[in-house]
Amino acid sequence: GGVGRTQEKPVLTVAIEPVFAPFEFRSPNGEIQGFDVDLIRAVGEAAGFGVEFRNITFDGIIPSLQAGTVDAAVAAMTITEARSKAVSFSRPYFKAGLAIAVRKGTQGIKTLDDLKGKTIAVQIGTTGAKTAQAIPGAKIRTFDAAVLALQELKNGKVDAVIQDSPVTLYAIKTGNLEGIEVVGQLLTEEFYGIPLPLNSPNLSRVNRGLTTILQNGTYAQIYQKWFNA
Ligand code: GLN
Repeated sequence: GGVGRTQEKPVLTVAIEPVFAPFEFRSPNGEIQGFDVDLIRAVGEAAGFGVEFRNITFDGIIPSLQAGTVDAAVAAMTITEARSKAVSFSRPYFKAGLAIAVRKGTQGIKTLDDLKGKTIAVQIGTTGAKTAQAIPGAKIRTFDAAVLALQELKNGKVDAVIQDSPVTLYAIKTGNLEGIEVVGQLLTEEFYGIPLPLNSPNLSRVNRGLTTILQNGTYAQIYQKWFNA
């Protein structure tokens, strides 16, 4: 681990699992792209470090940070109290929340309460999985990727999916997921942060870069590009 040095600037090895559009995913020709990708590159430019991505599954990211085999991660990762014991998070950079998705026309599912005893698909290791596991009597099916959970719903194999609202909405808008809709209110308010090893010396650099791009309009441009808002 540690920060590698080129002639002028350090290069951070950044863990990423590019299966979470629009935050991190692959373009048709296989390049890693997305909101988080543009964000960390812009943070690096602002704060004087380069970025080298390393593919790591979402549930392997915190162990890799703890082992020091990567310097940081971009993973639309929610800042939670439990995770904050294992890694140090940057300042928050994105506000999200969990949403319930069902097949269009489903009756009687709008709230967490309505999901008691239902079958729910989630992505392993996520806040959505944790929320689903706390529902009395619910049967949980776990998947490696958010879109696989949604496909299971589309195929009629589960009653609902619980995951980050921006990802579900993007998948409905762009993917082959007609027939699925988000219902009810957001279940949570969550903030994404960039996780680094506990007390990493790079933390202040990353925070400085984030503050710069939030203030100079770069963040707003990246947001506009991916969320068209
Ligand atoms: N925001 C969710 C979490 O942190 C999901 C992140 C993801 O699947 N990449 O658990």
